Amino acid sequence: MSFDYRNGALCAEDVPLDDIARRYGTPCYVYSRAAIESAYREFAAALADRDALVCYSVKANSNLAVLALLARLGAGFDIVSGGELARVLTAGGDARKTLFSGVGKSEAEIELAMAKGIGCINVESEAELERIARIARRLARRAPVALRVNPDIDARTHPYISTGLRESKFGIAHAEAERLYLRAARMPELELVGIGCHIGSLLADAAPFVAAAGRLGELVDRLAAAGVRLRHIDVGGGIGIRYREGESPQPIGAFVRGTLAALGARPQKLIFDPGRSIVGNAGVLITRVEYVKPGAARNFLVVDAAMNDLIRPPLYDAWHEVRNVRASGAAESVYDVVGPVCESADFLARQRRLAAGEGDLLAILSAGAYGMAMSSNYNSRPRAAEVLVHGTSAHLVRRRESVEDLFAAEQIPG
Ligand SMILES: *Cc1c(COP(=O)(O)O)cnc(C)c1O
Repeated sequence: MSFDYRNGALCAEDVPLDDIARRYGTPCYVYSRAAIESAYREFAAALADRDALVCYSVKANSNLAVLALLARLGAGFDIVSGGELARVLTAGGDARKTLFSGVGKSEAEIELAMAKGIGCINVESEAELERIARIARRLARRAPVALRVNPDIDARTHPYISTGLRESKFGIAHAEAERLYLRAARMPELELVGIGCHIGSLLADAAPFVAAAGRLGELVDRLAAAGVRLRHIDVGGGIGIRYREGESPQPIGAFVRGTLAALGARPQKLIFDPGRSIVGNAGVLITRVEYVKPGAARNFLVVDAAMNDLIRPPLYDAWHEVRNVRASGAAESVYDVVGPVCESADFLARQRRLAAGEGDLLAILSAGAYGMAMSSNYNSRPRAAEVLVHGTSAHLVRRRESVEDLFAAEQIPG
């Protein structure tokens, strides 16, 4: 395991988290390079005998050091904005191995992606298809596109992270896809390279994922019969991880093997775009207890991390395990772990049995995905530092924001 106790201290690989807190302060995100590599290699190993590509979903954790690490391992990328494209290129990622997803791509973003040689634009509507064709005509180049098809399969996950149902804003309705492909095939500015889907996030069970892949496969066959031959099938991301003891999401290998079985001997390159399953359990957020605040109805541990640092608990009602970095001398009690932000929704964990006192360090586990990436400056709180650990060394990969950073882009009219 990448986060374990050694000599009484919770460590990231070989580095005690209290050393990191001392050097870089709190709150601080800490990532394990070995954990990221090992999750990536689980995909790579399961796909070893197949023409395939793992396109890491940048939105889960977009730190340049994380992207550079994955680029060196051979990963492609799945992006949802021009900003993410710039990150990928800056980190040494290959534009040709990058997919551009998202429902609201602007003209400027599409142009930038084409100018940089993007591998594929995943089209989410007929209007977007027309916009891309217009831009391609203007640039006198062909745009590589795939349609993101909504397979209308219930991912059986939290409604905010379920994306594959008919009522979702994402994707092109399954019933519409064939007509749109045939239309796109008549647009000379477009190069139809593939098909994609993404049914939702945090899937514990591979069955809906595999069913969605199977539906894509059938569509690919129908399109081939109609003369539209695609080069890749992108089955999406959304593979779940264990946040809590007792949860037992199926492992990456089960998702991959199920997909391989569903798509059989089809010649298309197979693409996965996982985010959370690569980085989620590769990161923790360390925070220090500022105050112990007992109350009549609830006891609180007020810590120096808050919802602006990690919004998953209030946003998705998500559960993150909380551990002491070192055993505390304080008495055990049941606490809500809350931050300094002025919102009742500002909690990291609720009703946890913990022994911690003022000054103690806590680690919020499984914070590598959708943690820092979703952080904000709400309440004018500078964002946390980020550290990447490799063996015995800890590298600062994002310095803590300064108070000056908070308003560096603002000005008072003269
Ligand atoms: C968010 C997203 C992913 C990654 O989802 P995870 O749950 O982090 O694996 C993959 N593909 C698309 C199109 C996405 O929007």
